[in-house]
Amino acid sequence: MALVVHKYGGTSIGDIDRMRNVAKRICRAREQGNEVVVIVSAMSGETDRLIRMAHEVSQTPSDREYDMLISTGEQVSMALLSMTLNQMGCPAVSYTGYQVGIITDDSHSRARILEINTDTLHRELEAGKVVIVAGFQGVTIHNQITTLGRGGSDTSAVAVAAVLDAGLCEIYTDVDGVHTADPRVVHKSKKLEKISYDEMLEMASMGAKVLQSRSVEFAKKYKVPLCVRSSFTEDPGTMITEETEDMEKTAVTGVAMLRYQARINVLDLPNTPGIAAKIFKSISAEGINVDMIVLTENNYGGTDISFTLDRQQLATAKEICERISSDVNAKGVTVEESVGKVSVVGVGMRSQPGVAADVFDALGSNGINIEMITTSEIKISCLIKEKDLENAMRCLHERFHPEAPGAEQE
Ligand code: ADP
Ligand code: ASP
Ligand code: MG
Repeated sequence: MALVVHKYGGTSIGDIDRMRNVAKRICRAREQGNEVVVIVSAMSGETDRLIRMAHEVSQTPSDREYDMLISTGEQVSMALLSMTLNQMGCPAVSYTGYQVGIITDDSHSRARILEINTDTLHRELEAGKVVIVAGFQGVTIHNQITTLGRGGSDTSAVAVAAVLDAGLCEIYTDVDGVHTADPRVVHKSKKLEKISYDEMLEMASMGAKVLQSRSVEFAKKYKVPLCVRSSFTEDPGTMITEETEDMEKTAVTGVAMLRYQARINVLDLPNTPGIAAKIFKSISAEGINVDMIVLTENNYGGTDISFTLDRQQLATAKEICERISSDVNAKGVTVEESVGKVSVVGVGMRSQPGVAADVFDALGSNGINIEMITTSEIKISCLIKEKDLENAMRCLHERFHPEAPGAEQE
């Protein structure tokens, strides 16, 4: 008997009819002799609605109460799905993250899973039940409810699959798999049959929200067989696997974009050792992650430092930089709010030269200005104006996947 984990996203259980369809799929998996654990997300739009309500009552809700509120969407879907399954004659039982024992650290809204207690899961499976667990949520050792960051039920699913040593973790969503680019933006995108853990990790961190990046980290670390597929069709979807030799043949596997970035420039700092450390230590002390960093000597013998970060954290980071700039008599701080990143990802670029030149040419010849660049062994990211992002993604896709079949682009 195999143990499988299914995860259903918001659209897949967006209304009662869809919930019934999902329930039929779960029943089928069980009738085929599998033990099934199901992770559910909130019904579509529900988490956004809860977040809007929180901000209606308070500009700065406490972290604790915020997580108490936004974790409730999953509790609704798990109970409804369990009722639907039982009604169909398939024994099922639902549990919150707290009840199961999904233990996290205490960073509210972006908590990390530390451990999962498997006793309840095993007991219910042995009793012949489908076990439904609320995704996106956990509990600290001090019994405080936490959430795992937007899209976090993917991570709940992979983590549960890892501790149960599941034969397969299937992420059911509203597209038929992982594509060469977001199919909602690039209509000519093509579904991939497989993609390596490393490529998927870069794609997800660079904005391909089809999987939360932490879920891919877990899958890679614990070698969880992971698959992304549609809850509306029988298409087998995309397998996320260890790298295979044939994967290197393609220079660029996928293109992704990340909106809502911002850039901070700290101007004319003294050109002395330790100045960069001074800025970035203070920023990281506030829990702010920075991404691209460029440090240049300017014409006056001073240093200019520019970096990018999530726009949400801009105000705090700007304040810190202004304080340091004034402390060291620098020239001040400028910011750019409307920027984003477009990235190409592929293990093939390790062995194929010229990919960077092709990226810059594809953007340049379409009138898209590159403001900053970062690379890893298998990724090239460019910071560009936010208004150019979708066009940039289409141009890059056309350059690296001109053959991809599909409808006309809009
Ligand atoms: P769920 O609610 O099922 O978790 P999400 O909205 O979080 O679904 O993720 C699915 C969405 O991810 C798709 O609707 C698609 O627009 C988007 N997406 C972004 N990049 C990609 C990609 N490369 N391949 C497939 N989907 C992608
Ligand atoms: N419901 C949560 C969200 O909207 C978690 C998830 O969908 O994975 O972010
Ligand atoms: Mg999601």
